[in-house]
Amino acid sequence: MTPETLLQALPGIGPARAKALAKLGLVTAEDLLNDYPRGYEDRTRLTDIADAPEGEPVCISALVAEPPRTSRIRAGLSVSKSRIVDGSGSAEVTFFNQEYVRRALEPGESYVFYGKMETVGRKRQLTNPVFERADRTRFTGRIMPVYSLTAGVSNHLLASLALQCVEGCADQMPDELPGELRQRYQLAAVEYALRNVHFPADEEALAVARRRLVFEELFTLSCGMAFLRRRRGEKEGQAFPRRELSEFLALLPFAPTSAQRRAMEEIAGDLASGRSMNRLVQGDVGSGKTAVAAFAAWLACAGGFQTAMMAPTEILARQHWETLSGLLAPAGIRVGLLTGSLGAAGKRAARAALAAGEVDLMVGTHALLSEGVEFENLGLVITDEQHRFGVGQRSALASKAEKPPHVLVMSATPIPRTLALLIYGDLDVTIIDELPPGRSPVETYLVGEDKRERMYRFVRKQVEAGRQVYVICPAVEEGEGADLKAVTAYAAELSKTVFPDLRVAFVHGKLKAREKEKVMAAFAGGEVDVLVSTTVVEVGVDVPNASLMVIENAERFGLSQLHQLRGRVGRSQLHQLRGRVGRGKWQSYCVLVSGNHAPDTRERMKFFAQTTDGFKIAEKDLELRGPGDFFGHRQHGLPALRAADLAGDTRVLKEAQRAAGELLDADPDLSRPENRPLMERVRRLFAEEGEIFN
Ligand code: ADP
Ligand code: MG
Repeated sequence: MTPETLLQALPGIGPARAKALAKLGLVTAEDLLNDYPRGYEDRTRLTDIADAPEGEPVCISALVAEPPRTSRIRAGLSVSKSRIVDGSGSAEVTFFNQEYVRRALEPGESYVFYGKMETVGRKRQLTNPVFERADRTRFTGRIMPVYSLTAGVSNHLLASLALQCVEGCADQMPDELPGELRQRYQLAAVEYALRNVHFPADEEALAVARRRLVFEELFTLSCGMAFLRRRRGEKEGQAFPRRELSEFLALLPFAPTSAQRRAMEEIAGDLASGRSMNRLVQGDVGSGKTAVAAFAAWLACAGGFQTAMMAPTEILARQHWETLSGLLAPAGIRVGLLTGSLGAAGKRAARAALAAGEVDLMVGTHALLSEGVEFENLGLVITDEQHRFGVGQRSALASKAEKPPHVLVMSATPIPRTLALLIYGDLDVTIIDELPPGRSPVETYLVGEDKRERMYRFVRKQVEAGRQVYVICPAVEEGEGADLKAVTAYAAELSKTVFPDLRVAFVHGKLKAREKEKVMAAFAGGEVDVLVSTTVVEVGVDVPNASLMVIENAERFGLSQLHQLRGRVGRSQLHQLRGRVGRGKWQSYCVLVSGNHAPDTRERMKFFAQTTDGFKIAEKDLELRGPGDFFGHRQHGLPALRAADLAGDTRVLKEAQRAAGELLDADPDLSRPENRPLMERVRRLFAEEGEIFN
């Protein structure tokens, strides 16, 4: 057998099974070796019949004491029974519709059984156990892999195929990691890693195997990203002449924070360098990214070039247009707006002005990218990003200009630096880690059920002072989880018994869009005092008068937006929710209600209550959950990863990044003979992203 051997050529694999396997992406032996288990079953320890706990899977080594007898219950249902004994006692074994056991189980022989022991009356009983002769065990007495399955493919089938492939050709798999690197980072050889990720000798061997595979994948990814960044860094771009920063600062109604100033200086350096800028500016909501974007547009305009600024929604585009016109018009910069809702005539006029060079900065939605939108000379593209773009998509933005324009990406998603290097690996990263002065941070408190009445009094006090309150629940309806506060029932309870004199409304994702908007508009207009809601308010409108956010079952929520990348409803993030209050001039509060006293939950909640910095919160989230959870979902804009979601901690990620940087310093094009297999692997990993590696 070789890694290229077709699974179809293996015994027992007919066309139907081959087709089912192909559905899982498994065609060759190599595919199977690279299909890592999603979990494991420990079948290493043997238990005595008498000691086997009720209802838990156990391995039992025992003698078959009676020849199996089969009786037919009715058409299509037969039962075969036998009895097994070991030194501690005896048990009945029962098999449904498995008449072959009459031949497979020989009286007087020893077998290892794997199954759940039950007690019926005074008898111990095993039903449908897996069994093997004790002198020829393959799937008992070891740690068994558990694979992701599809119809027509059982775990037993995959495990036995994996065993054949591991035995048959794991030793022929090429090792694509340079040997020197393997030594330095103490990584297992590929054969060892494959063998032990499928059939671990023990827990430690599994950890060693995983480390190698995760490292390899993250290292390849980091190499690819760093490679892109370096190559792009050589691309020629328009050099804009340097201008005095103070000239721009005179336009601002405030003094910049030092983080904003640093971002501006980095951008000025990029734009004057003669190479094309690809920079990500990351900063929490309210950190003042707009002024930084305005600065970049101002420089482009001074250099004689146009700027396009893309926002994810119409409302945001309009807001930017208003702000930026106010800021830049005094400097003689003409700011235009192009969105889908302009109407045909309006759009035509905007396009004409743009093509004639009568607009210097065009703010808009995705409409800016549509066909027929032409620039006289586009020099800078700014995107105010809410969603991840794929690496390939991002480069498509640049196609509206003759020479590649400079690209500035703004993001309000705090992502730990290590992950940002991967997700935005082809971009240089600037972090604005400071809020403008004078903002009083939202005060956060953690309360248990015993303080509920006090919490209600606090809600009332805020409303009496003229403020408004959000109450967030994790579920929409009762029954979605025991003890979870559900929006509809809770809103009814609040308005009937707790706050009969206040105006209580509710909103959740299952309402029709028009109803949702109506409620949100009423809240924004001050017609509602207490809004009970699921996490839909995260993306809702801005209500500066809201000064209190109560989060019920707070333990159910993740800390940071790393969770939102996973896009799972009801598993949203506290940081983003809390950002809904503290937008006005009033001191604002966030109250986390949780009856969960588990120490790690308490620690997580306390940490959140004491921390307002979005980056620190995201770092903590990464530390608590490891990157695996993040890699397990495909909303991160990265190529498909196979091993990385096995990653337990962030250490491997950091090491892999360091190693990639070192390797590329030594061999920038990965052209040395010993690095060629690696380059091949990088190409394969990025295959889905299209042309970028050609
Ligand atoms: P972001 O886009 O990063 O969420 P904005 O650029 O919209 O934040 O800024 C939020 C608010 O803070 C705006 O009202 C803006 O005028 C104000 N602001 C920005 N920078 C400063 C600063 N250095 N000092 C005072 N206020 C600032
Ligand atoms: Mg903004």
